[in-house]
Amino acid sequence: MIIAKTIEEVRAQVRAWKQEGLTVGLVPTMGYLHEGHASLVDKAVSQCDRVVASDFVNPTQFGPNEDLEAYPRDFDRDCALLEEHGCHMVFYPEVSEMYAPDAATYVEILSDMPKQLCGQTRPIHFRGVCTVVSKLFNIVTPDKAFFGQKDAQQLAIIRRMVRDLSYGIEIVGCPIVREPDGLAKSSRNTYLNPQERQAALVLSQAVRLGQTMVEEGETDARRVVEAMTAHIQAEPLARIDYVSAVDGVTMLPVETIQGSVLVAMAVYIGKTRLIDNFIVEKGE
Ligand code: AMP
Repeated sequence: MIIAKTIEEVRAQVRAWKQEGLTVGLVPTMGYLHEGHASLVDKAVSQCDRVVASDFVNPTQFGPNEDLEAYPRDFDRDCALLEEHGCHMVFYPEVSEMYAPDAATYVEILSDMPKQLCGQTRPIHFRGVCTVVSKLFNIVTPDKAFFGQKDAQQLAIIRRMVRDLSYGIEIVGCPIVREPDGLAKSSRNTYLNPQERQAALVLSQAVRLGQTMVEEGETDARRVVEAMTAHIQAEPLARIDYVSAVDGVTMLPVETIQGSVLVAMAVYIGKTRLIDNFIVEKGE
C-alpha cells in the first residue's frame, strides 16, 4: 500500500491509474479505524479497480469546545487494517498540506438541511465536512466515494453537495457496522469507561425499539420518538442531545412515518457524544 503525505503524490498516482483505464474509489476517514471503516474499504475494493482511503482529522469540522485535540489517533494500526482489506493508497496529510494558514474558502449548503439534527449543536460542523470532502474530491478525483449510514446526515449532505456542484462522483452509502451487543462502532467508543460502555447500549436499544414500533404499524413519528426518548432517559449516564424523525432526503422534521424517513439521535454518555439511527422506507 502506498502511503502518500502530499497532494502531489496522490495526483500523480491517480493520473497513472487513470491512464491505465482503472477506476478509483475514495473512502474518507478521520483514522483510528475499525470494522465500520473496513466495511467501506471492502465495498470500495469490490466496486473499483483502485481504492484510496484518506486518514485526516479535519480541524474545520470541530467546534471550539469539541474533541479535536483528544481525538484518538494510531496511524500504524490504521495502515495495517487498510492493507489487510486491500486498500491501494492511504492519503495521510499534515494539516498544513490541506489548509494554508490563510485559507478562507468554504463549501456550505445554504439551506436548513445542515441546521437540523447534529447541526443544532454543531453549527460549523457540516461546513467543515463539505469543505474537506470537496478538497478530497478535487485531490483524488474518484469515480465513486463511500460513506457510512452511521453518519446519516453527513451522507445526505454529501449527496446534496455532489448534486448541487455537479461533481459527477457516485456516492455509495454503506450500512452501520455494530459491536456484537449492538453498539454502533465508532472511534469515539474508546472514550467510554466500562460503566459508560454498558450505558451506551441505550442508543442501539432505542433504535431497535423504534424499528419494532414502525414494523408493527406505528406511523406517528412523535410516538416513536417519545418511546425512544423515554428509554434513553431511563439510563442515568445518558443525556439526550436530540432524538428526531426527519425526511430521509431533506432532513426536515416529519410528523408521519411515510416514504423515506430517518430516525436519528445524538446522546451524551458521560462526556462522550454518540450517534445512531435507522432508516424507514415505507410505501404510500
Ligand atoms: P469517521 O472516521 O468517523 O469520520 O468515519 C469515516 C467514515 O466511516 C464515514 O463515512 C462514517 O460514516 C463511516 N463509519 C464510521 N463508523 C461506521 C460504522 N459503525 N458503520 C459504518 N460506517 C461507519
